[in-house]
Amino acid sequence: MHSVAVAGSGVLGAQIAFQCAYRGFNVSVYDFSSEALAKLPEKWRQLADIYQREVGATAEAAQSAIARLLSTDDLEVALRDADILIEAIPEDVEIKKDFFRRATQMAPAKTIFATNSSTLLPSVLATATDRPERFLALHFANNIWRQNVAEVMRHDGTDPAVFDTVARFAEGIGMVPVLIRKEQSGYILNSLLVPWLIAAMSLAVEEIADPQDVDRTWMIATGAPMGPFAILDIIGLRTPMQVLGARAQQGDETALRQSEWLDREYLKCNRLGVETGEGFYSYPNPEFSKPGFLRPRSAA
Ligand code: NAD
Repeated sequence: MHSVAVAGSGVLGAQIAFQCAYRGFNVSVYDFSSEALAKLPEKWRQLADIYQREVGATAEAAQSAIARLLSTDDLEVALRDADILIEAIPEDVEIKKDFFRRATQMAPAKTIFATNSSTLLPSVLATATDRPERFLALHFANNIWRQNVAEVMRHDGTDPAVFDTVARFAEGIGMVPVLIRKEQSGYILNSLLVPWLIAAMSLAVEEIADPQDVDRTWMIATGAPMGPFAILDIIGLRTPMQVLGARAQQGDETALRQSEWLDREYLKCNRLGVETGEGFYSYPNPEFSKPGFLRPRSAA
């Protein structure tokens, strides 16, 4: 594989494109919005700085990465020589299906199609293409250069050789590939994280323990650097609110109580987590990062 097409130049698309270019691939970035494309030169500059600061890139390596990036609003141009297409457009099944229908008409037969969707299953999107056997999910995390896990998820119809090729490609662009051999909504990370966060919120909402004691327990007992409420602050409380809201609408009463609590105590008071400086903790120096947080109360 030499040539990568990335569709969508938003938060994740730009990061995926830069990472692939930094690792030596020729990358074309497609977006239908000229406004989004116009922001790319500034995004490349910012990413070049971040890579020099955080992953030890030389200035030359960062500049070479930028030189390997082409941006276009012409999908046919983006796909012309693509070995793999990584789709990172909005999380909407109809938008994505429509995109893959168009890509099917323009992509060479060799192009593997991968979606970075957070919640949609590849088997659903593959039906919009002429190549379900060359279709899978390749899911990155935000801040790809640091949080460098890539979840590679096949569906029943994915060719095992394609699964293997994409796992090797992920490694080639500096990711730690993890193989998900059957479709699973939420991949590995969210299959673990979401129930854990919901269990933590239950303890607080039902007034069994306060959030700080939940985090203390987790941190002391497992040696982890953070507990669930500190992680909720990093995610930002809007996202859990959306997840709980959707569950509440389907009649989940526990989720309804949790969403009401989150809304009343946090969102309505503009306590959205790290981004507003207040959530379960106050930032930039949250209590859980201070030594006293984990000491016996009498010694704190
Ligand atoms: P975003 O809104 O930042 O960017 C989406 C981009 O797609 C925009 O630039 C928009 O102009 C473009 N776009 C919209 N419709 C298009 C179309 N039909 N054709 C071409 N371009 C189009 O979104 P994002 O946060 O980068 O998320 C993109 C995908 O990545 C989603 O599926 C999301 O679930 C997934 N994802 C996001 C994150 C995250 O932390 N943001 C993490 C993992 C996966």
